[in-house]
Amino acid sequence: MPEGHTLHRLAQALDTAFAGTRPSAASPQGRFEDGAALLDGREVIAASAWGKHLFMEFAGDQWLNVHLGLIGKFSVASYDLERDGVPPVRGQVRLRLLTTTHVADLRGAIVSQVVTPDQVDDIVARLGPDPLRTEQDPDRAWARISKSGRSFAELLMDQSILAGVGNVYRCEVLFRHRIDPFRPGKEIRRQTWQLVWDDLVRLMPLGVAFNQIITMEDQVEKAELRVAQGRVPELAVVDTDSARRARPGPAGVLAAAVAAVVGDERAADLADESDEGDVDEIDDDEPEDETPASSRFAGVTRGPRVSGTSRRGGFRRKYAVYRRQGEPCRVCGSKIRTKVVAGRNMFWCGRCQRRR
Ligand SMILES: [Zn+2]
Repeated sequence: MPEGHTLHRLAQALDTAFAGTRPSAASPQGRFEDGAALLDGREVIAASAWGKHLFMEFAGDQWLNVHLGLIGKFSVASYDLERDGVPPVRGQVRLRLLTTTHVADLRGAIVSQVVTPDQVDDIVARLGPDPLRTEQDPDRAWARISKSGRSFAELLMDQSILAGVGNVYRCEVLFRHRIDPFRPGKEIRRQTWQLVWDDLVRLMPLGVAFNQIITMEDQVEKAELRVAQGRVPELAVVDTDSARRARPGPAGVLAAAVAAVVGDERAADLADESDEGDVDEIDDDEPEDETPASSRFAGVTRGPRVSGTSRRGGFRRKYAVYRRQGEPCRVCGSKIRTKVVAGRNMFWCGRCQRRR
């Protein structure tokens, strides 16, 4: 299941591709015809994410709400109409948004619906604070955690308590602070919760920027340095399922790329690390860090803004505990253990993780 950073990155890609345009909307598969009809030809105001929920605001108070679930994909790509024509529909596309320059195809999501502003409020009200959004109140999560008899590891995965954190961030952040995953929330110290929140606020924007969960401290520091220097990941395919399966499409259509942008630093500046020939840059004239005036809820995605989804994050995939069961702990050498918690495999070091 994609974690919050993937949804925030997707929201930025959709926003870059469609904000201010009036895409046609259709349901080639036929299962979203009514929803598509409501959106067809309307101006896109903005796209944003809260936890694992994606929201795309259209003119006239129509909001597209998507939750990808386990197998959903929402790909966003630029294409050259004159050169290649409209990209062909492949597979079961529930919703296609199309302009003369961009196409977005939604497949397999567990939630795809057009909702009213009041319904948007209701959905967001059921979600906990999101470490990837500004203007969040971690005390709202603490109010629930500190009263709960459920394990801290389980609470971190409860989207109504904390939004956007999935299994990888959960396991890794618990190890980073040596926290006992099985302590009930009510036995966790307030200071421990604050450490976890602050660390997620630090780590998750790097996940957005590099399209990769980065939790090993040496890699975190390198990633932060690259952000501070305005060095962004490789030029990007705007395609949520491309990270591990990047493939050239017919005439490069679906592999059309945009430049990932950090602040106003163009990824094209990193031409030596990229193949500029494949790049189809999107104009990004908007001021950075601007909250859309029409945004239904306060706050924006933290950290550098990116406009694409990287082909790869650029860091070796390496974790402290996640999927390392039976391997030695990198700190103490004990075997990393695993157990199902909140429906997902929890990984932890029984010797190191004692803090509450
Ligand atoms: Zn250990």
